[in-house]
Amino acid sequence: MARVAVVTGGTRGIGEAISLGMKKAGYRVAATYAGNDAAAQKFQAESGIPVYKFDVGDYDACEKAVAQITRDLGPVDVLVNNAGITRDAALHRMTRAYWTDVIRTNLDSAFNMSRLVIDSMRARNFGRIISISSINGRKGQFGQANYAAAKAGLVGFSKAVALEGAAKGITANVIAPGYINTEMVAAVPKEILDTKIIPQIPVGRLGTAEEIARCVVFLASDDAGFITGACLDANGGQYMAT
Ligand code: NDP
Repeated sequence: MARVAVVTGGTRGIGEAISLGMKKAGYRVAATYAGNDAAAQKFQAESGIPVYKFDVGDYDACEKAVAQITRDLGPVDVLVNNAGITRDAALHRMTRAYWTDVIRTNLDSAFNMSRLVIDSMRARNFGRIISISSINGRKGQFGQANYAAAKAGLVGFSKAVALEGAAKGITANVIAPGYINTEMVAAVPKEILDTKIIPQIPVGRLGTAEEIARCVVFLASDDAGFITGACLDANGGQYMAT
């Protein structure tokens, strides 16, 4: 029986590529989203992947959704914590709402979803928890104290879960993408991209969502069973962590 993978924020951007990549690799995939029904319906119609609408920051909503996905597809073998948002402002201008929204969506979500699948992974002696961090959680970024804290938090979270899951066949890893050619980055004026962003990327181009998806497919596979508590930096050489 094919393994079941849940991709949060799996209907658009990097998450969409992850959902498609996991389906192609043979998984039964569930893609979740927050509120963009049009994008989700289009994605579902084109991919045949079922979509589930709920707020990953809301534990009770996650609980209902994981129960529904389990009824529809079976117990979750692979969880990809991908949903994320930005609310940028320098600390001296940052509102509490900006802080809370970002921590809730990018970090609380990883607790919520992982907590809700860990018991069944432990019972079945297999699991993969893969969380999408960011280069900006690795090196910091002006205007992103909230986002950098949440994304760095995913690294500590995954290291702890990796230790706890090791004896049960459960791995927990992080992927930290650099600048990826999603709609968000494509909206940046070409001149800014060419003069300010691309010159900082040694490989000389933006990454693609499919390149991040391939990292996820690998970390989810049996071949990656010896890799746990790791952070895979996929950033074109822009930041090389020690
Ligand atoms: P997008 O904004 O394109 O897509 C975000 C997805 O997450 C959407 O499906 C969205 O749903 C969903 N989502 C947002 N908030 C919630 C929520 N509260 N509950 C449930 N789902 C939610 O994001 P990207 O593809 O650009 O980014 C994906 C991940 O990669 C994020 O974690 C981001 O921080 C990280 N990242 C992105 C980089 C980039 O260059 N784009 C670089 C480094 C890291 P809906 O469609 O309904 O809005």
